[in-house]
Parts: sequence; C-alpha cells; structure tokens
Amino acid sequence: MRLEGKVALVTGAASGIGRETALLFAANGARVACADLVEEDNAATAAAIVADGGQAIAVTADVAVAAEVEAMVAATIDAFGALHVAFNNAGIMHPEDGDAVETDEHIWDLTMRINALGVFLGCKYEVPAIRASGGGSIINTASFVAIMGAASPQIAYTASKGAVLALTRELAVVHARENIRVNALCPGPLRTELLMSFLDTDEKKQRRLVHVPMGRFGEAVEMAQAALFLASDESSYVTGSDFVVDGGLTAAYVTPE
Ligand code: NAD
Repeated sequence: MRLEGKVALVTGAASGIGRETALLFAANGARVACADLVEEDNAATAAAIVADGGQAIAVTADVAVAAEVEAMVAATIDAFGALHVAFNNAGIMHPEDGDAVETDEHIWDLTMRINALGVFLGCKYEVPAIRASGGGSIINTASFVAIMGAASPQIAYTASKGAVLALTRELAVVHARENIRVNALCPGPLRTELLMSFLDTDEKKQRRLVHVPMGRFGEAVEMAQAALFLASDESSYVTGSDFVVDGGLTAAYVTPE
C-alpha cells in the first residue's frame, strides 16, 4: 500500500486520467476526495472506490472559481482531517483552439482560466492544508506540448500548459523546505476522450502518432501509475520536475518506421 494513511485530492476525477488516478490512489490505501465539474460521473468514481472497500467523497467544483476550490479543499479536510496529496489535473482542450491568427480571445481566456488559473487556485488552497498536515506532494498536469512545438496548433492550450510548468517550478522551490514537493506530470498523447475528439480523423491521429517512438497512444492508467509514484514517498527527492510520460516522444528526432 504505497499511499497508506494519506489523504489525496484529485481534480478531473470524473473521467480519463483523473478517474484512473483516483481509483489507483484508493487501491493503494489513500482516502480520496474526487472533484470535478461533472457531478454524476464524478460521483460514480467515488462510488466505485467505496464499492471496492475504499474511502472516498465526491465534491462538485469548478477549478476556475476560487470559492469552489476553497470549498473543495475544506470538504476534503472535513471528511478526512488532513491533505497530503493534491493532483491538479482537470483541464480542457477546446475544439476551436488553433493557431494564433484563427483563435478567438474568448477561447484563450476560457482555456487559461481552467488550465492555468485552475491549477494556481488549487495550489493556493492546497498548500496551507498540506502544510498543516505535515507536508506532502502536489502534482499538476501539464503536457508534452509545453515542451515541444506542435505543427497541429492549439495555441491557448499550449500556453496554458507552459504556465503550469512555470508555476510548478516556482512552487517547488518556494515550498521545498516545508516538506511540500511539487511536480508537473507531462503526458504524451493519450487515447482518452479529450484527445480523440480533438484528433477527430484517422489522418490527424496518424499525424500525431508519427512522432511517438512507441507507435501508440498512451493510456490514462499509465499516467495514473506515474502520478502514484510522484504522490508516494518513493519520489521523496523529486521536486520541481517536468515528469514526462510520453512513449519517448520528447526524446525523438526521427522515429522508427
Ligand atoms: P478528460 O476530458 O477525460 O478529463 C478531464 C476532466 O476534467 C473531465 O472530467 C472534466 O469534466 C474535468 N474538468 C474540465 N473542466 C473542469 C473545471 N473547470 N472544473 C473541474 N473539472 C473540470 O481528459 P484527460 O485526458 O483525462 O485530461 C486530464 C488532464 O491531462 C488535462 O489537464 C489534460 O490537459 C491533460 N493532458 C491530456 C492529454 C491527452 O492526450 N489526453 C495529454 C496531455 C495532457
């Protein structure tokens, strides 16, 4: 049980990476607060944990609204009395996000609000709770697109994930002596609803896969396994990292045929 005795908060827990991570954290002994905007599916994640003998609560929250994020952290403390692990993972990839010329300002604002402000607000309210619990681990979901330039553009998304990397580094440095580790998880392209609906033709999917040495999309559970490592004490000397889990994408200059 790699998270025995820990309390974890996972945002975006209704779906994809967040759901898989909430389930895996619970299977490894954590008590888990599942948070998402989508009430029913989020409740289903918490219910699955409880049905499996674990402890979980479901909190409906919009990560881009400060009062809701504050209430989300308070609900976690109310239920479980502490906070040790926070996975700020909720995010969007808007279908109208494209290059700088064609992307509307409101798509930029919306994407930055959820993906960047949402992570900032999470950290703002989680840090004091983790500090009061004696320390812990914050994991912020960024993306490989914050490291590599992509020819299939999503300018707002890319910028928002760059912000996540930058704020993660600063948080890691500022809070290192408080026993609070802060890392960014950088997934490669995954076979989740979020990306598959963005790459909505076979041609677009193949265009992305050409760059992945392993030749396949990643799975949400493979991100959950990385998040588990960053959450657990096994990663006790890891902080401020861009933790890349991408099938080799960022290492590749030319990929094998
Ligand atoms: P997903 O769409 O399956 O899950 C995202 C979850 O976030 C959903 O349950 C959604 O309801 C929730 N959410 C969205 N806006 C919210 C808000 N304002 N408040 C609360 N919850 C909100 O997608 P996923 O692939 O599991 O993505 C999770 C994270 O991983 C995102 O930050 C995404 O940008 C990142 N990521 C995904 C990929 C990929 O290929 N799928 C690659 C790199 C990074």
